[in-house]
Amino acid sequence: MHDYDPQSIEKKWQQRWRDSRAFEVAEEPGRPKFYCLVMFAYPSGHAHVGHVRNYMIGDVVARTRRMQGYNVLHPFGWDAFGMPAENAAIKHGTHPERWTLDNIAHMKGQLQRLGISYAWEREFATCERDYYKWNQWLFLRMYERDLAYRQRSAVNWCSSCETVLANEQVVDGACWRCDTQVGTRELNQWFFRITHYADALLEGAEHLEQWPEQVLTMQRNWIGRSHGARIRFAVIPGREADAAEEPVEVFTTRIDTIYGATAVLLAPEHPLAERLAASSADPAAFRAQLGRFRALDRTARTTGQIEKEGFDTGRQAMNPFTGKPVPIWIANFVLAEYGTGAIMAVPAHDQRDFEFARKYGLPVPVVVQPADAPPLRGETLEAASADHGVLVDSGPYSGLPSAEAMRAMT
Ligand SMILES: [Zn+2]
Repeated sequence: MHDYDPQSIEKKWQQRWRDSRAFEVAEEPGRPKFYCLVMFAYPSGHAHVGHVRNYMIGDVVARTRRMQGYNVLHPFGWDAFGMPAENAAIKHGTHPERWTLDNIAHMKGQLQRLGISYAWEREFATCERDYYKWNQWLFLRMYERDLAYRQRSAVNWCSSCETVLANEQVVDGACWRCDTQVGTRELNQWFFRITHYADALLEGAEHLEQWPEQVLTMQRNWIGRSHGARIRFAVIPGREADAAEEPVEVFTTRIDTIYGATAVLLAPEHPLAERLAASSADPAAFRAQLGRFRALDRTARTTGQIEKEGFDTGRQAMNPFTGKPVPIWIANFVLAEYGTGAIMAVPAHDQRDFEFARKYGLPVPVVVQPADAPPLRGETLEAASADHGVLVDSGPYSGLPSAEAMRAMT
């Protein structure tokens, strides 16, 4: 037996595959087909062992299916937009297009020398006009159907780089690129109206039996709820010098519990948080606290697997139903990108709010009494009661069942 000499034998077969267009495909009605799609590579410079491992798995699947008689489409492309290209362009003083195309050429050569069975004639890069014109086309269809819309919203902002940062690009509260303390800024941004699909997505999540509960919780938080009410709490001026603030908007699926709302909790990223810091007695200490919360692990914040912490801003908002002021707190488990970035805390009827209230000695008024149970009392509750029931201590709504109250209150 001859020695295995990769330089000659691989070259020989790869040439044969190229000449015979062995991995290119055309439609063949009647023959079973198989689409083997792997994650497109980011053209970061050089393929590494992780690429090889990933793409070998796809190649084994594609080659197996071919041998089983399938007409296999195994395409490859380049996910070629984003911050790394921008960073490299700044660092090396090159045009991002040059840097990206050079990397693609190099990595393509590496993958071809590995002999992976891609249909290279179908190769594309997402930075090419022929590709992104379809992104634009899809976007316009969504825009026409009111599924894409613009709205002002808070983003992470690095004042030194003068750029918006994704949450993943904020490391311990600082810019990943230049270590500047990251602030927030309100910008007009595009959003997709995924709430139109919330019910279908939540229903679909029920069938993901193999998924870890933590991942499902994050999915549910991202999806949000389509049914619920937005409620505005007016911000009460603290001192005469304070500028009038926009009301804080909260989203709730349980408006029937609003008479038990004893605080407004803001995400540390909420735009109002920064303004309250500026007008507080000790802005530096206030901002340091905000920075500490923002720097916490976002996954843990999302799933609630963190020690719930917060602090009183010293300012108050008006509960629009009771007409009474409630304190505005900053809470580390409230996230800016979910809902409105602010929630009303109803300790007696939400477990997360309950734990928070017990920790900080906030009142826990019971406003919904579950049917067929001894009357609940806030002082002796050991856990929140999230069940529907009959409203108590809820002004004109007292005595109504939850469902009826929700209709009457919205
Ligand atoms: Zn920066």
